[in-house]
Amino acid sequence: MIVTRFAPSPTGLLHLGHAFAAIVAHDAGERFLLRIEDIDSARCREEFVTAIFEDLHWLGLRWEEPVLRQSNRETAYHAALGRLNAAGLLYPCFCTRKEIADEIARAAEAPHGPDGPIYPGACRHLTNAERESRIRSGSPHALRLDVAKAAAVAGSLSFQEEGRGPCGESGSIIARPEQFGDIVLARKDMPAAYHLAVVVDDAFQTVSLVTRGSDLFAATHVQRLLQALLGLSVPSYAHHRLILDASGRKFSKRDQAVTLRSVRGAGTTPQAVRTRLGL
Ligand code: GLU
Repeated sequence: MIVTRFAPSPTGLLHLGHAFAAIVAHDAGERFLLRIEDIDSARCREEFVTAIFEDLHWLGLRWEEPVLRQSNRETAYHAALGRLNAAGLLYPCFCTRKEIADEIARAAEAPHGPDGPIYPGACRHLTNAERESRIRSGSPHALRLDVAKAAAVAGSLSFQEEGRGPCGESGSIIARPEQFGDIVLARKDMPAAYHLAVVVDDAFQTVSLVTRGSDLFAATHVQRLLQALLGLSVPSYAHHRLILDASGRKFSKRDQAVTLRSVRGAGTTPQAVRTRLGL
């Protein structure tokens, strides 16, 4: 049984790029699930959750109920963090964004990963006593994964690419999680970061095939590592092409003209949306 999911964040109205991702996931699954990735409460809005349901329904998609919402999953993320912490793979990071940017600016050579410059690692080198005293004094901190240590524990890993990755790669892909550096897994203001929540929830929802845009291909490398560390089931992946605007850029939530709301308001039919998307 192929189980797929569409996992939007309710931070704006869905646009044609989301419609493409949702239809691809829907059509690839024998069971199709919807997950609302609303863990970032500062950016997510309830009106956009309602709009997601309405717009996907208008497109003709149906999904299983109940819909999973990440805002209800704090306990599960907490347990996953506890497991990584018990294995000695996390460390508290007290750096502010500015301190990290300054340190990167000072470095002669700042290595870059898929999401920008890699965390230089100041807090990785703190002693346990320093960590404890800063936590006791109430310093806000994130939790980072010690990726080199984690990769050594997990050993060599791969994932199955069913689509064509951004470089035309398919088949068994060797995971290279180190490319991100020590990622944040829990933020000061959020119980879990995206990579952690996604792997915990994909396993919980028994997703067997993750379809998503090729812009998340790199993310799969680090998510594969987290699955191994947490003993989670490993889905196959099919990364798909991105829907681009006339100037070759990805649509953003600010492009009002291509929201499903506006194409629908302009009298377009769901079938015409599929045709426009080349589906
Ligand atoms: N919530 C993510 C987004 O809206 C998608 C996560 C995923 O498909 O893994 O970009």
